[in-house]
Amino acid sequence: MLSLTIREVSLALREGKISPTELSRKCLNRIRKTRHLNAYITVTEELALKQAQEADSRYLQGAPKGLLDGIPFTVKDNFCTENIKTTCASRMLKDYTPPYHATVVQKLLDQGAILLGKTNMDEFAMGSGSTDGAFGPVRNPWSYTTLYREQAGSGDADLEWVVTGGSSGGSAAAVASLSSFLALGSDTGGSTRNPGALCGVVALKPSYGLVSRHGLIPLVNSMDVPGIMTRSAEDAALVLGILQGRDVRDSTTVDVPWPHAELPKGFDVHNLCVGIPKEYHAPGLSPETLAQWSRVADLLESAGARVLPVSLPHTQHSIVCYHVLCNAEVASNMARFDGLEYGHRSGVDSSTEAMYTTTRHEGFNDVVRGRILSGNYFLLRQNYEHYFVKAQQVRRLISEDFRAVFGSGVDMLLTPTTLADAARYSDFTQEDNRTRSAQEDVFTQPVNIAGLPAVSIPTALSSRGLPIGLQLIGPAFQERKLLAAARWIEQRVCFPSIRYQDDDNVADDSESDGVVKKQGKSSAA
Ligand code: GLN
Repeated sequence: MLSLTIREVSLALREGKISPTELSRKCLNRIRKTRHLNAYITVTEELALKQAQEADSRYLQGAPKGLLDGIPFTVKDNFCTENIKTTCASRMLKDYTPPYHATVVQKLLDQGAILLGKTNMDEFAMGSGSTDGAFGPVRNPWSYTTLYREQAGSGDADLEWVVTGGSSGGSAAAVASLSSFLALGSDTGGSTRNPGALCGVVALKPSYGLVSRHGLIPLVNSMDVPGIMTRSAEDAALVLGILQGRDVRDSTTVDVPWPHAELPKGFDVHNLCVGIPKEYHAPGLSPETLAQWSRVADLLESAGARVLPVSLPHTQHSIVCYHVLCNAEVASNMARFDGLEYGHRSGVDSSTEAMYTTTRHEGFNDVVRGRILSGNYFLLRQNYEHYFVKAQQVRRLISEDFRAVFGSGVDMLLTPTTLADAARYSDFTQEDNRTRSAQEDVFTQPVNIAGLPAVSIPTALSSRGLPIGLQLIGPAFQERKLLAAARWIEQRVCFPSIRYQDDDNVADDSESDGVVKKQGKSSAA
């Protein structure tokens, strides 16, 4: 039951095969059994069961609200949730409880979806590994499959486990380890797609402005978007249909006609023109990821799509451009955490300045502090033109690259999502995380810079038994077409999901080490 898609489980609920309460209990049970993944910061068990009971009665009366009624979901811990801790995985906000729900959370609750908890992440969403949060790193559920263990050739799970990617690693791990059918992440430079790819789930980054950011604690206001993680492209479309739309509380949102929650039945590949950006053959691209990229391009081509090389000449500047703009916005966003209004406050009170300094020193990790410092440097009067204004000019050039390609008749781009499959924690953290994180985002950040939609879909397992994801990028507000193409690919690559022997064993609360069996068609690269 837990490995079904939202659409499938929603049918089971409507047919009375399972009740929302039974389903939620199964999820809560799975959360307990996968505690070693450290995917959740807060589990809202009591609230979930209360919401589930209300959903039970709607189903009993034959009047569920819609397809999301009774569906358990999770939310990254940088979305505000009323009366539920929202920490951003930071000591600064470890006891912060917002008085309101983020718009996206409220919309899901209004549909009768059941909130299971808040997921772990990199502190303030800065990172690409989910290794940098105040509550410890998130472990990739695929590290615990027998397949991975056999390839790794080591019985010691503690030595060999791989990262989830980030920064929404907890959300991706929750969907991949089957404790949740849907998870919200945030995506500023790739934080939904990167962990989605490394954990083998579908991860959608909507166009900037399509989904409200109200209640999402900002990282980079001009690039942040809420992201959607599910087990199928069809589910992502369903959820996007509910979340999209103008919000008076976020002035950057727009109204785009959104015809149906369902994707069009058929999808005509013959009329599709797919671009392969040549600059995305980036240094560090693994041979297996490259092989998957070619395989899916070939699949599309042999089905009748036009697949052609294209150029996005300013790609090489996107990482630097992102970092200047990101850190500048971070410097200004983080100024609100001063120990006065909310969040952590240091006990040092010899002067206001000393209180500020120690509060911020104690509250933020060194990644956050480093970005604040460099962001303030870029914004100094003597540097502003040279860094910030330059970066904005480069941002325009990067956006123009995409516009030119889409303007020439290309419908969407096919690219890898990450350079390779997930790194072992020890390898990931050995390197300087900031450098690593910068390299990891080479395929994802340009999309945020240009405000475009993109979806990452799992396409295969590597020879290590770990997921490899590919990304489709489209023109602004073309999510439905992107997701229809994603579904087309999904149906042909048959990516397996992790299975747990005890999926239906609701009564058994005992601890278990998680994955014991992997099923599904083998699709090793
Ligand atoms: N890895 C990127 C960064 O650290 C992206 C983060 C994100 O999308 N939230 O800035």
